[in-house]
Amino acid sequence: QAGTTSAATSPVEYHTNHDQIQQPIDTQMFVDNAFVPSKSDQWIELYDPATNNLVTRVPQSTTEEMKAAVASAEKAFAGWKSTSLLARQQIMFKYVALIREHWDRLAASITLEQGKTFADARGDVLRGLQVAETACGITTQMQGEVLEVAKDMETRSYREPLGVVAAICPFNFPAMIPLWTIPVATITGNTCIIKPSERDPGACMILAELAEKAGFPPGVINIIHGSAKTVDFILDEPAIKAISFVGSNKAGEYIYKRASENGKRCQANLGAKNHAAVLPDCNKNHALNAIAGAAFGAAGQRCMALSTLVLVGETSNWATEIAERAKQLSMNGGFEEGADLGPVISPQAKERIESLISSAEKEGATILLDGRGQKPANYPNGNWVGPTIIANVTKDMTCYKEEIFGPVLVCLNAATLDEAIQVINDNEYGNGAAIFTRSGATATRFQKEIEAGQVGINVPIPVPLPMFSFTGNKKSIAGGGANTFYGKPGMNFYTQQKTVTSFWKAEDAVSAKANVNMPTQS
Ligand code: NAD
Repeated sequence: QAGTTSAATSPVEYHTNHDQIQQPIDTQMFVDNAFVPSKSDQWIELYDPATNNLVTRVPQSTTEEMKAAVASAEKAFAGWKSTSLLARQQIMFKYVALIREHWDRLAASITLEQGKTFADARGDVLRGLQVAETACGITTQMQGEVLEVAKDMETRSYREPLGVVAAICPFNFPAMIPLWTIPVATITGNTCIIKPSERDPGACMILAELAEKAGFPPGVINIIHGSAKTVDFILDEPAIKAISFVGSNKAGEYIYKRASENGKRCQANLGAKNHAAVLPDCNKNHALNAIAGAAFGAAGQRCMALSTLVLVGETSNWATEIAERAKQLSMNGGFEEGADLGPVISPQAKERIESLISSAEKEGATILLDGRGQKPANYPNGNWVGPTIIANVTKDMTCYKEEIFGPVLVCLNAATLDEAIQVINDNEYGNGAAIFTRSGATATRFQKEIEAGQVGINVPIPVPLPMFSFTGNKKSIAGGGANTFYGKPGMNFYTQQKTVTSFWKAEDAVSAKANVNMPTQS
């Protein structure tokens, strides 16, 4: 029954430091509004990236467990679909209030499992919360259209939910990205299966607890765990009608293809290599601070991190000054006061990032600031890579061609704005691009000619708020960008259109003979 609440509490403990957890608790699933321990014999160990202490074990959900979650979502669909929009809206209001109330708890789980600083983790939660807040306006967003198409005849359009939908989430935004799906999918009447990243599912489990407390009926939101096996189950399960994926190109291109082959809708946001063109006429102080913040915040593990600079004309030596600002940033455990960036997600990620830095050195670039081998004194065992700036990079270098996904800024030089635009457009990714300039004319030209889907003008990370949509382009989104997350396109993704044409006329006026011609409605 919508609106009723009970007291299921997530078994995610509230930790506000990186001290070793004496007795890690296994992560559970969430099915039918209850936390369910897995009977799996396959478990994925999850370590705090700042210490490499064990935090929890995440199950590879068994096929039976995943089927039970889908059965729960299928069973819930009819009732949820027919729950009035106003009743669903009331639950969403309550969900929003609860997320705000549990903001710090959610953020703490992110800092512990993912590594980002507590302040940044609060931002992760906020960006997801804003999607839920925007979903509360569904009563004006989901209105259809009506037109009197002929005398006594009108056509009305409706948007109806799809059924069971699923989300497959990445590690880097453990709250925001599940919240790209949960509010939009449920407010439009769908039920969902969420697969958080196996590397940091804690925030998602708390979001499930809060959903139950907000009054979502059993089965509307379910959480299963695991890696490729779970993904394949979702891809092949006929009851799942749509899949939302955010993550790397390797996984996402496979997921988009197989989901499409299976006749499912799929939205898939993929990798990135975000550039900023720096023009000599910009506000230099603003640009340097914005660049250092956007390159190294979250240890560069944001799909919209500013990872590549194109220094135009006489700005070619500004990289040294960015390095000075980067040196001021404090790399530390995410719960520590004043920490600016935390560790990267895993020892493997650290090794990969360091090897990409080394490749740049071998290929002739200049390492202006070297984060290899750095670590904060109190966290000797974490996955640390300090802010790194690589100058004199060219387009053929490995560090330019690959998404590094770490605190590494690569800098290229360009003689003119034309050349900078060419470099950026030649790149196969198209998530975001920014320009720093004081000239409206230059910014307008950049905005029109650049092929990236999200453009910042003196804004380094131009992620649109949820009244717009997340509009990556080129290789950063599968399917040519037809299905984007949140905003109006997000709502359209989770709904099917229905049009109804009706004819109401006085009975005595109806002709006695059938008309066999195609109606012309004139
Ligand atoms: P990932 O692709 O490794 O994992 C994402 C999800 O896919 C996880 O749930 C994982 O279990 C699953 N997965 C991983 N490998 C798989 C495989 N071989 N087969 C099936 N499923 C698989 O991504 P990640 O490392 O968690 O996240 C980082 C990546 O996500 C970066 O490339 C980043 O740019 C991208 N990202 C993009 C956006 C965006 O909006 N464009 C946002 C956040 C992150």
